[in-house]
Amino acid sequence: MATPHPILPASTDPKDFVIATLGSHSALQILKGAKDEGMKTLAICEKGREKLYTDNYPVADEILTLNKFADWDEKLEEELIKRNAIVIPHGSFISYMGHDRVQKLQAMYYGTKDILEWESDRNKERVWMEKSGLKLPRLYPKPEDIDKPVIVKFHGAGGGFGYFVAKTPEQFYEVKNRKYPDQNDFAIQEYIVGVPLYIHYFYSPVTGELEIMSFDKRYESNADSIGRIKAEDQLVAKIHTSYTIVGNIPVVVRESLLPEMFDMGERVIKTSQELCGGKGLFGPFCLETIVTRKLEIFVFEISARIVAGTNPFIEGSPYTALKYDKPMSTGRRIALDIQQAIGAGQLEDILG
Ligand code: AMP
Repeated sequence: MATPHPILPASTDPKDFVIATLGSHSALQILKGAKDEGMKTLAICEKGREKLYTDNYPVADEILTLNKFADWDEKLEEELIKRNAIVIPHGSFISYMGHDRVQKLQAMYYGTKDILEWESDRNKERVWMEKSGLKLPRLYPKPEDIDKPVIVKFHGAGGGFGYFVAKTPEQFYEVKNRKYPDQNDFAIQEYIVGVPLYIHYFYSPVTGELEIMSFDKRYESNADSIGRIKAEDQLVAKIHTSYTIVGNIPVVVRESLLPEMFDMGERVIKTSQELCGGKGLFGPFCLETIVTRKLEIFVFEISARIVAGTNPFIEGSPYTALKYDKPMSTGRRIALDIQQAIGAGQLEDILG
């Protein structure tokens, strides 16, 4: 259950606050969005990366420098608290900080910390997805059960790195023992034949509304290049499919899929509120899906924060253009949510 935030400035003027994030991942988008909404911005950078946020792209009003992100300490937090900084988490933020440190943050943090344990624990995440009535790829408890193509994911493997595909127990052990002999924490998931589609949502506790901001597909090496080689040449060259993310590509979906996608997002939010017994998930989140030729939408993961797939939409997306009369990125939407919460004296509602 959420506890009251330890520091809660009484001001209802957004100008008394600073939007802060780690200089990485989607920081350019987040800080640009905050500036567009007229807010002050701060980037916490690793030494040598500052210029990107001040000179190359002038999105940060102020920089706080660390030798390494891992050096994040109480002194830094004091600096953030002094400035009324609201920290915006993104994918790299969570992986650099680790869930435990995020839980202990004293500075203001946009988003629910309670949901992190449901997202970071594979079994709990599966419960969340099942309770939300989502279609999920089958899970194989042990390699001996493999009876059709599966995708093997090692715990903590970020950005698709180190995933492999197998279709028999023998094939599984052949790759696992040769390439990953010491790793025994993995999930074996049914391989869904279809196209990957990442749905970027935003749920505002201030308006109580769920929005679909945009969609992307990932540009993965070498899964996205194998089709450029004839099948017989692939065999000769012994190419193994890999799913390492190189970039993100915008997608617009068939309009008829949208109602189901809104429903899916609504159910994920509702379930998160039941699971956390409090605010539940809010702000930006993403359902990572594979859509089959029968237009079934299988969800293989929930990201409970802004994903890098929103970065192509710094000037807004076709979907945000339908709703807003200004270019609305997910980063800017976060700043708008914060401003509205501050203005309404509801700051606590958007802090974890
Ligand atoms: P992830 O890092 O978990 O977001 O996954 C990286 C990539 O692996 C996705 O973009 C898909 O191309 C692929 N992938 C993950 N899970 C599955 C699955 N169950 N079936 C087919 N492809 C998958």
